[in-house]
Amino acid sequence: MAIIGNENKLSESARDFIDEADLPGLLAGNGSTVDDARLDDVIAKSMAKDPLSLEETAVLLAADSPGQVDRIYDAARQLKRDVYGNRIVLFAPLYIGNDCTNDCTYCAFRRSNKEVIRRTLSMDDIRSQVEALENHGHKRLILVFGEHPRYTPDYIAECVRQIYAVRVGQGEIRRVNINAAPMDHAGYAAVKAAGIGTYQIFQETYHRETYGKVHPSNTRKGDYMWRLDGVARAIEADCDDVGIGALFGLYDWRYEVLGLVAHGLHLYKHYNVGPHTISFPRLRPAHGVSLDESYMVDDENFKRLVATLRLAVPYTGMILTAREPPELRREIMAFGVSQIDAGSRIELGGYTEVGDAQVVDREQFELGDIRSLDEVMRELLVDGYTPSFCTACYRLGRTGENFMEFAIPGFIQQMCTPNALTTLCEYLVDYASEETRAAGEKLIEEELDKLPDNKRKAELMDRLRRIRENDERDLYF
Ligand code: SF4
Repeated sequence: MAIIGNENKLSESARDFIDEADLPGLLAGNGSTVDDARLDDVIAKSMAKDPLSLEETAVLLAADSPGQVDRIYDAARQLKRDVYGNRIVLFAPLYIGNDCTNDCTYCAFRRSNKEVIRRTLSMDDIRSQVEALENHGHKRLILVFGEHPRYTPDYIAECVRQIYAVRVGQGEIRRVNINAAPMDHAGYAAVKAAGIGTYQIFQETYHRETYGKVHPSNTRKGDYMWRLDGVARAIEADCDDVGIGALFGLYDWRYEVLGLVAHGLHLYKHYNVGPHTISFPRLRPAHGVSLDESYMVDDENFKRLVATLRLAVPYTGMILTAREPPELRREIMAFGVSQIDAGSRIELGGYTEVGDAQVVDREQFELGDIRSLDEVMRELLVDGYTPSFCTACYRLGRTGENFMEFAIPGFIQQMCTPNALTTLCEYLVDYASEETRAAGEKLIEEELDKLPDNKRKAELMDRLRRIRENDERDLYF
């Protein structure tokens, strides 16, 4: 979100891939209902782990009969298990600064909002926030910045380096992702050099007219094309794990789903890699902001958009955040979510300076779920999920295009499950409450029973022993 360097040089693939004439037509489905045979064909393609086209995704969006919606839900659950097993990767957000030169109508940090407390964490503040996060057991963070000249790529890179250097006890942060404004190539190269994981940029809405309404043209964020092209420039600057997203509730949710799918297809066509993650935050109340609720997405449609995205982009990680309340998160997790945040506080300084209640004049929006990491871990374990803090792929260079090569045949059993179990074991030994430890040890035994007796299982069991008995840490395949 920094304004730097050659601000106008777009990527080699830059073009507006959102065909505003085409998308409404696709959604209208030419006024006809979806026949079951057509729906079966589309679902079969997803179950074969082939990314869907816009037309095929539109079939899922148009399939409205209760029976058809249930079949989409069942398929999404199954595909989640097939590609991601029962793993859920955990992270926490860390807001660094909320100065912003933009004036997005839905955001508490918008420049014209005088009711919010402005702050940028000092390096000492950052260290104390990260120490608190490490003492909770976190290993993966996403840093969030407003868009302001003070948040230059070099400043963001320095924050990243500071965070990797913080170690308390067995604690360390092993992956730092960034949610920041689009940069130019030089900017991305600077943050990449600091060792970031994923660079996330949300288009917020792919509907141009709406985009113009909520992002004033006299602000940097008012430049639709600069933002739409943001992650392509990141990929060209070797930030090959990128994340995209839309803010659901600004415009028709079906349109935004097609926008996200079109974005993924565009990246795949030009860089042979899709987005590493897709996020689907819903509009939330924000301090000093009156929201236009014309397109608010209800829970039933929210479930449908998650299941539809799961089927449309089989290999893209899907992030469900603590914007949503615990009960809904628990239900939607099964539809294809692969990553969640937990124990999250989004107030500036929120991990050491605020109590149980949210302090809304220090937040960008209100959270729906502020349970502790340990509470969320226990619920995941009880529901049969394997919570994971794995960071192996990114640290072994299995990123972007390379990741895809691995992510296909049998990768889960060989890498993901063992790595999830070792990071879970670390959490149980170093941070878990008694109850969570008991639930976790039980799950580890159950997962080991499911694994074939081979060399990899023997290596895994040895690593679990070394974590428990020799105090070894950070053992990954
Ligand atoms: S959404 Fe981001 S860019 Fe827009 S006002 Fe809020 S912090 Fe600034």
